[in-house]
Amino acid sequence: MSDCLFCKIIAGEIPSKKVYEDDMIYVFEDIAPAAPVHYLFIPKEHIASAAEVTPDNSAVVAHIFEKIAELAKGPQFENGYRIVSNCGDAAGQSVKHLHFHLLAGREFTWPAG
Ligand code: 5GP
Ligand code: ZN
Repeated sequence: MSDCLFCKIIAGEIPSKKVYEDDMIYVFEDIAPAAPVHYLFIPKEHIASAAEVTPDNSAVVAHIFEKIAELAKGPQFENGYRIVSNCGDAAGQSVKHLHFHLLAGREFTWPAG
């Protein structure tokens, strides 16, 4: 999607702080961190939100969760962490490209927001 911010980040047209990349996903630091660790996990394929996940494209979601389990290691993660995917306007989804926030390094309250 040519007008999608995260597609531009994947293409390198907008700079980002890369954490991890493979052929299916891109992981980078959130520009406005909401916790000491705040990564965004995104599929390289443009999927607009969690509402657009189907049997044809859902393998990347499993892959993202496998990589979260791999990357969420070390002192910042050992007391727990939070994974969030905002879906739609009421949930505060500001970028319409599926992404999973990985937040760590502080205490979190629940329910969120
Ligand atoms: P959402 O609000 O859609 O759940 O999450 C979008 C996230 O993308 C926000 O946490 C916001 O800070 C982050 N973000 C927006 N623009 C950029 C950008 O240009 N670079 C990076 N690294 N993060 C961004
Ligand atoms: Zn996109």
